[in-house]
Amino acid sequence: MHNRLNQKIGILGGGQLGKMLCQAGSKLGLDITILEKDHSFPAYQVCSSYVCGDITSYDDVMRFGEKMDVITIEIENVNIDALADLEKAGKKIYPPTDALRVIKDKGKQKMFYEGNGFPTSEFELLHGKDELIQLVMNHKLDYPFVQKSRTDGYDGKGVHIVRKNEDLETLLEGPCLVETMVDISKEIAVIVARNPSGEMMTFPSVEMHFHPTANLVEFLFCPSSLTPDEESKVTELAKKLAQKLNVVGLLAVEMFVDKNGEILINEVAPRPHNSGHHTIEACVTSQYEMHLRAILDLPLGSTALIRPAVMVNLLGEEGFTGETLYKGIEDCLKLGGVYPHLYGKKETKPFRKMGHVTIVEKSLDDAIVKAKFVQNHLKVISSNGA
Ligand code: ADP
Repeated sequence: MHNRLNQKIGILGGGQLGKMLCQAGSKLGLDITILEKDHSFPAYQVCSSYVCGDITSYDDVMRFGEKMDVITIEIENVNIDALADLEKAGKKIYPPTDALRVIKDKGKQKMFYEGNGFPTSEFELLHGKDELIQLVMNHKLDYPFVQKSRTDGYDGKGVHIVRKNEDLETLLEGPCLVETMVDISKEIAVIVARNPSGEMMTFPSVEMHFHPTANLVEFLFCPSSLTPDEESKVTELAKKLAQKLNVVGLLAVEMFVDKNGEILINEVAPRPHNSGHHTIEACVTSQYEMHLRAILDLPLGSTALIRPAVMVNLLGEEGFTGETLYKGIEDCLKLGGVYPHLYGKKETKPFRKMGHVTIVEKSLDDAIVKAKFVQNHLKVISSNGA
């Protein structure tokens, strides 16, 4: 068992998720090395070491991986061919590359759901926007619908809601899919942890509230408002999916509950996820520690919620680009149960994820009151103004 803790762990990417993985790893005395382009990345302050390189380059990932025992990711946009060759050479790659190939491409994800009987909204794969426009012109596709880039979309950037003819002017470029627009009643996420021995644990579901224009999570609540029956349904669905995809590590499963109470899988991520930030302060074991336990094939322990929590994403304010300033942080630090996580990104941009704040309280209602205070007082701006 103790040899497992001595393995050299490599993470592709050193953003905020990599940073929080390193923080959890340092608690267990783990040796974690990050692959990143230069040293100005959030995890730099907290990783054991760092190798300079590009996570999308075959050669850089190979060179990095050869020195590691276990390799994981904090972002899907990595060189999978290199990971597959490292896997063949006997390195432990978690998530396994077969799962990563499916997940990295939203088109393949949807086909996987359809092919394996997982509920998801209806869709069609398209070569690009010309084909989409043809479908609309020929009345084979009716408004409203959702266009999504097959790869490289993140934080709502690869998602375009099309309601009317004018929206066709801003269609996304490249291979895409179109989905029926779901009449969403709730957006839910469940994070599953799975180790190579097949042990699985799920975190209590969370409910996400989105920013009306940026398509980004603004608030997240835990516990969610699901009934116990719905909770067990989403939990079972998430577990089945993790098993079918043969994921090792975490699988964050985003789901919609529609107005008829039907549960539909939206998308998944095989790594720590924005919807699990609150687990650091609110759960017995955080998602970050859970990911590390899982990839090291350690016992998973407990995911139980200790206290209700709200998570507020800190996004760069509109109109501010430049050196980061967290305005109003002192007012928030005066409040008990308010835990800011500032990612240390030197430059802010409109809607860039610059940090998050977790609020834990005796009741969810009390946490919501403080979350609204934080949202009104804490602003990410730049020192040089607009
Ligand atoms: P990202 O990968 O950027 O997180 P998502 O696929 O999760 O993209 O979409 C972002 C948001 O867009 C969703 O959380 C949801 O609010 C909205 N959305 C996505 N797909 C649909 C759909 N089929 N119907 C209605 N809303 C959708």
